[in-house]
Amino acid sequence: MKTQTRHDKSYSFEFFPPKTAEGAARLRLVRDQLGALKPRYFSVTFGAGGSTQQGTTDTVVEIQQAGFEAAPHLSCIGSMREKIRTILQNYKEHGIRRIVALRGDMPSGTRAPGEFMYANELVAFIREETGDHFHIEVAAYPEFHPQAANAQADLLNFKRKVEAGANSAITQYFYNADAYFHFVDDCEKLGLELPIVPGIMPITNYTQLARFSDACGAEIPRWMRKRLESYGDDREAITAFGEDVVTSLCEQLLEAGAPGLHFYTMNRAEPVLSIWKNLNL
Ligand code: FAD
Repeated sequence: MKTQTRHDKSYSFEFFPPKTAEGAARLRLVRDQLGALKPRYFSVTFGAGGSTQQGTTDTVVEIQQAGFEAAPHLSCIGSMREKIRTILQNYKEHGIRRIVALRGDMPSGTRAPGEFMYANELVAFIREETGDHFHIEVAAYPEFHPQAANAQADLLNFKRKVEAGANSAITQYFYNADAYFHFVDDCEKLGLELPIVPGIMPITNYTQLARFSDACGAEIPRWMRKRLESYGDDREAITAFGEDVVTSLCEQLLEAGAPGLHFYTMNRAEPVLSIWKNLNL
């Protein structure tokens, strides 16, 4: 794996759009606490948990107006080109320069017609429509996407997104650093030179984490599951263990030359701040 200096590393924080006025007020506080760490950008999810495009837009515009760089996630499954064109235009008008381009997932049982099948088609469309205006981030899966035919096919599908014009990638979260190192090495062997930033999920709630992990194919290693299960409802013990494990994962990744860290914050500052402090960043 190629190394990068600390100075070049990209630290970023992910939010989901709040659904209520109280949630929005809380998020402003979280944004300012994490903003003090001078991240490269904040990203805001779309569609996850039923959030609307408007929620994503409102949240990124507010972050941008507060003086931070904001990157909306944009998923394409089930969408028509005209709709994506309008969204891109709107983001351009709001001075947005970075997009996390995704396929997304169809809610189960629905089958809306759409003009995009995979994220590489969205990346190509963004380039066709807007040239180099946007820095495009795409998703990467060190433990492989659950729907991939096999590991090699998933890697080649990742390559398609890069060849379509992605500038950098953010990974699905993982707790096994070797999966990431192997993935990055495989990408280098394929001639892919873009930064692949590890996605980091702090651990504070085991039930929720187990549910997410089952759905997205991110593995919680057995030794971690066993320990987390043994803490039952003891949130303090779960948080302390999670902080320890995730701090040492981040240390390992940064020491080995990972180009930064992208934190899935779940709209909370404390878990990230504790890890950040431990890392002495
Ligand atoms: P793709 O890259 O299109 O891959 C999807 C699957 O199709 C993979 O199995 C791949 O191997 C296969 N594939 C890709 N291209 C081809 C091809 N040309 N032919 C055949 N097979 C192909 N979801 C949300 O709803 N909202 C969000 O805001 C959101 N943010 C995310 C942020 C990050 C950093 C990550 C890692 C995931 C995020 N997701 C989000 C989840 C994501 O939408 C799902 O994982 C989705 O199932 C795949 O999206 P993708 O962009 O990786 O898809």
